[in-house]
Amino acid sequence: MKTSPPLWFEPAPWIDGAWRQPGRGSDPFTVRNPATGALLAEVGRADAGAVTAAIEGAARAGRGWRELPAAARGEILKRTAAALRARRDEFARLLTAEQGKPYLQAAGEVDYAASFFQWFGEEARRVHGRIVPHPEAGREFLVEQCPAGVAGLITPWNFPLAQGAKKVAAALAAGCTAVWKPAEATPLVALALAPILAAAGLPAGVLQIVPGKGSVVGPVLAAHPHVRVLSLTGSTATGSSLMVAAAPGIKRLSLELGGNAPFIILPDADLGSVTDQLVQLKMFVSGQVCVTANRIFVPADREAELIERLSARIAGLKVGDGLAEGVDAGPLIHMDACRDVRSRVAEAVAAGAKIVAENRSFESTPGLCVENFSPPTVVAGVTDSMRLAREEIFGPVIPLLSYRTLPEAVERANATPYGLAAYVYGTDLGRLRAVASALEAGIVGVNEWRPLKAEIPFGGVKQSGIGAEGGEEGIREFLETRVISMPKPGVDG
Ligand code: NAD
Repeated sequence: MKTSPPLWFEPAPWIDGAWRQPGRGSDPFTVRNPATGALLAEVGRADAGAVTAAIEGAARAGRGWRELPAAARGEILKRTAAALRARRDEFARLLTAEQGKPYLQAAGEVDYAASFFQWFGEEARRVHGRIVPHPEAGREFLVEQCPAGVAGLITPWNFPLAQGAKKVAAALAAGCTAVWKPAEATPLVALALAPILAAAGLPAGVLQIVPGKGSVVGPVLAAHPHVRVLSLTGSTATGSSLMVAAAPGIKRLSLELGGNAPFIILPDADLGSVTDQLVQLKMFVSGQVCVTANRIFVPADREAELIERLSARIAGLKVGDGLAEGVDAGPLIHMDACRDVRSRVAEAVAAGAKIVAENRSFESTPGLCVENFSPPTVVAGVTDSMRLAREEIFGPVIPLLSYRTLPEAVERANATPYGLAAYVYGTDLGRLRAVASALEAGIVGVNEWRPLKAEIPFGGVKQSGIGAEGGEEGIREFLETRVISMPKPGVDG
């Protein structure tokens, strides 16, 4: 059993390079390990006044940060990447203790977070403008890419380190300063990053971290005139309310929202490899992933074989405390999440679907907070109208929807307001390519369950979001284009 590490930071807002313990009478967040219920920390909450102070501090720090050479800003980010890799085990154990995901997945998240600090550390010095010829003689245009100003960053609890890293690294690389609000359930791993960035050379005030309630911090960020960009990863409902709050101030928005990913199994697919990858995808963070497969489209004549293979895999999974050896799936974030998943499955069963596999092994493991666990489950006979197929499940449930023809499967896959991720599995490359191109999604994994990398842009279409993170595109979310039209200097004065 790996134990969670002692905290190397204070559980309080990080503002202007120092921990700011809220005054008496403030109501802290209680952060518990969802697997065991053990208390991890009481975290001081940033109220509206603290968030305003953080924004104003970030605005003051903005000038010095913008004027630092881009290469120097990039070096700080690359040093942060190296420090994260060096402290991978400590961060992974904290992440598992706070979020619940198995240790190996948490260690993978630390690597993934480091890859964004590395990538944007490199991208920082590739931001450049251009000179454009003027139609009049003796003049020219300078097209500049400028940091937008203070960025407000809001992140969810499922990837509390990596979602923050994507935004923080891109914003700072662009020359913005930032105020980051982590999710209520997982503020620790965000605060843990503050001393790492400071040791890497980040000046005070450039990144402020304000644990707080979304409904308190969000409106303050959205209303403050110094905040010029709002970048949120969260549910579509939260994205929509942030857009409304940001409208009066005409803020730039970058939104990474919910999904409802189809997973299409072509008639020629190798079901052994499909089963293997589908179970990995669905057990990843126990299905609490925006890009997880939400609707599995299987050819009707291959469904029985898929059920047999999936049942064997599900029965062999170890479900438990992510800090214990060999665990494949941890708890959900809290018991309300379990209740929600249970009710979706129950509704589907009441409407004619059938549970064909379930793993409740965690129920007999001593020391677990059993009510925070959701059993890995396979549900067959799911139809498009069931809530299980219409909305994100956010749990380890594999809903099977059978189809007869491929055009029908593609049409049904696209019949959703969401468009984040999609998956296609098969052997004929031409067919795979054609189906992948026909799917309305920001990213399509072809025979690959985890295509996301720092090198590529990732963002949703339709109600899954606006803008992108990662790739060359990620930094542009924090840049503004402006033009100077001026006389062209000449040697004759
Ligand atoms: P959520 O929308 O409830 O919360 C996300 C963040 O928004 C939290 O920090 C929360 O405090 C904050 N928030 C809540 N209300 C707010 C408000 N009115 N104004 C401003 N901020 C507010 O989502 P969650 O339950 O934490 O995360 C799960 C959701 O996130 C799922 O829908 C999932 O698909 C989505 N998600 C999307 C991506 C992506 O890249 N597209 C990645 C991970 C998660």
